[in-house]
Amino acid sequence: MAELRQIAIYGKGGIGKSTTTQNLTAGLVKAGKKVMVVGCDPKADSTRLLLGGLAQKTVLDTLREEGEDIDLERIVKTGYGGTRCVESGGPESGVGCAGRGIITSIGLLESKGAYTDDLDYVFYDVLGDVVCGGFAMPIREGKAKEIYIVASGEMMALYAANNIAKGIKRYAGTGGVRIGGIICNSRNVDHERDLLRAFSKELGTKLLYFVPRDNIVQHAEIHKKTVIEYAPDSNQAKEYENLAQAVIENRDFTIPTPMTQDRLEEILVEYGLMDLADDYKI
Ligand code: ADP
Ligand code: MG
Repeated sequence: MAELRQIAIYGKGGIGKSTTTQNLTAGLVKAGKKVMVVGCDPKADSTRLLLGGLAQKTVLDTLREEGEDIDLERIVKTGYGGTRCVESGGPESGVGCAGRGIITSIGLLESKGAYTDDLDYVFYDVLGDVVCGGFAMPIREGKAKEIYIVASGEMMALYAANNIAKGIKRYAGTGGVRIGGIICNSRNVDHERDLLRAFSKELGTKLLYFVPRDNIVQHAEIHKKTVIEYAPDSNQAKEYENLAQAVIENRDFTIPTPMTQDRLEEILVEYGLMDLADDYKI
C-alpha cells in the first residue's frame, strides 16, 4: 500500500489556491490516484469545480443544524473521478475564530474514519497570508507534512509566501512539516519564471512548477468544472497533468529559510531592473 501523502496548499488570497488544487487533484485522478480535498477556507469554494458547483453544506453548518452525531456521508461528497470533497466552513461573519472550522472538521474526519487506507493524497486548501491560529492547524498538529505555496511574480504574492515560510519554519521542529516547493500561478509578470526560481532558491526550496495564465481557466470555472474535465485536450489541461506528475515525483522536502524584507526587495529590484536594462540599455 502506498503511503498517504497529506499536503497543505497555502498562498495569498486570490492567488489561485483552490483553482490549482482542484486541477492538480483532477490530474492526480487521471494518473490513477485516490484523493480527498479538504477546503479550509470559510468561503467554502475549495471543491466547487470537482463537485460541478453543487453547493456543499460545510461541516460547521451541518454540525450546527444536525447536531454532533452525523454520518460521514453528510460531510464528505463524491466529486470528479471519485474524489472526496469536504468544506470546513467558518463561523458566522465576525463571530469567533475563522480557523475553528478546520480544527473541528479534521477532528470529525478522523473520528468518523474518513482517512481510509485506499487514499493516496489528502489536500488542505488553506486561506491566509500568514500561518496562524486555526489556519496553522493542519501543519502544527503534523497532519500535513508536505506544503506547497502558490505564488506569482507580484510583490504581495511573494511577500505572503515569505511570511507563510516563516510559519512553516516555526512548526518544522514540532510538527515535522516540510516545504515541497513553490507553485507559480503566473500573472504574466516580466521575468516571472526567473524571479520565482531565484525566490524559491533563497527560500531553501525550488520552483516545483510554473502554471501559465490562461483564460480557459475562467471558461471552465463558469461551467463549474476543472480545466481537465472541461477541456481535456487543451494546453492548460496538459499543464495541470504535468503539475500532478511533478507532485507525484517530488521527493525533495526541506525546512524553509525565510528571507528578510530587505532581501526580498533586493531580489524584486534585481528582476525589476532587468526590464529597465532591456528598455533603456543600461
Ligand atoms: P484562491 O483560492 O487562492 O483564493 P482562486 O483559486 O479562487 O484563488 O482563484 C482566483 C481566480 O483566479 C479564479 O477566479 C480563477 O478563475 C483565476 N485563476 C486561477 N488560476 C488561473 C490561471 N492559471 N489562469 C487564469 N485564471 C486563473
Ligand atoms: Mg480558495
